[in-house]
Amino acid sequence: MNFHIMTLFPEMVMHGLNTSIIGRAMDKGLISIEAVNIRDYAFNKHNKVDDYIYGGGAGMLMQAEPVYLCYEAVEKKIKLNRNGMGSCTDAVDRNNDRDVNEGNGNSKSRVVYLTPQGEVFTQKKAQELSGEDDLILLCGHYEGIDERVLEEIVTDNISIGDYVLTGGELPAMILVDAISRLVPGVLNNEVSAEFESFQDGLLEYPQYSRPEIWHDKKVPEVLLSGHHANVEKWRHEKALERTRERRPDLYDKYMAQ
Ligand code: SAM
Repeated sequence: MNFHIMTLFPEMVMHGLNTSIIGRAMDKGLISIEAVNIRDYAFNKHNKVDDYIYGGGAGMLMQAEPVYLCYEAVEKKIKLNRNGMGSCTDAVDRNNDRDVNEGNGNSKSRVVYLTPQGEVFTQKKAQELSGEDDLILLCGHYEGIDERVLEEIVTDNISIGDYVLTGGELPAMILVDAISRLVPGVLNNEVSAEFESFQDGLLEYPQYSRPEIWHDKKVPEVLLSGHHANVEKWRHEKALERTRERRPDLYDKYMAQ
């Protein structure tokens, strides 16, 4: 799976995603992540990407044109890669961009705009998006992005929660992390993604590791019994109990199924 992150702060995104499981998945070629600097597509004297907001109000807005040109370049790279011309990926010629969405049965990629105004991100959405070959993530900054370009290129508006951040970079990183771990091979143990919180609509049961006794707290006996069916029963009961206590909204939904 290939992630293409359109941002004004590519180094922030790449530094944040380069380590541990996601970094290893990149090294193994299971996923690829490229952060594309929108400022590289600001074809004006000072590489300016923002301007005042019509109608007044505080702050600045990211302008439509640099975002659009950046999107065209990314989409063109994706098309070239899909058509087996990966070596041409840097040959982004503005004059030839218009035809990249036409011909050869090429479909446009999904473009996710990270915005507090979007649908709140869930495990279900992560699963849905993990089925894409390429995913373009668009990070806003300042007061956001000119609505006209959003109307033209965005297919999904996604929020990571009901609060406002300074930029879409952290939300984009959250999506990349959550989606990548669903890509086959990224987690060492395939089973671990299957039984985690939200996967079946419940929070996960409590878990324990060595030693058997820590601060006078003993690991529940059933987990030491080696009796597989009893362990499964206990885990399901605990998952129900925990979900009812901590997320009654999820519990009600699960029980109504
Ligand atoms: N003026 C916008 C509004 O009121 O909806 C908020 C803009 S915010 C300061 C700047 C950028 O941060 C947004 O364009 C978006 O990309 C990102 N952002 C902020 N909060 C977010 C959230 N909860 N989820 C996803 N992206 C967020």
